[in-house]
Amino acid sequence: MARLTQQRCFNHATREAVARCPECGLFFCRECITEHEDRVICAACLRKQARPPLLRRPGFAGVIHLGQLALGFLLAWFFFYLVGETLLAIPSSFHEGTLWQEYWFEP
Ligand SMILES: [Zn+2]
Ligand SMILES: [Zn+2]
Repeated sequence: MARLTQQRCFNHATREAVARCPECGLFFCRECITEHEDRVICAACLRKQARPPLLRRPGFAGVIHLGQLALGFLLAWFFFYLVGETLLAIPSSFHEGTLWQEYWFEP
């Protein structure tokens, strides 16, 4: 039962460990360990846990930005495609009709 008190802090060899970090499994003194979201965790693991979202955020935002660009491009392309299709479809039949009528009635 006294095993924990015999453990020394991972950072401070002279200090007695008060808690064990559940992340890295190392023992730490009161100064090195912190409570985080109802969990006792060492400072190094707390930093490790806190860092990924900060590192991930710009990349994630970049992916979203790229996705928005792609979506915008796709929407623009689709819009112009639709416009082109309608412009190509309606006046061509209209022109064909008039041209056909013009050619038919002119001679
Ligand atoms: Zn840890
Ligand atoms: Zn310590």
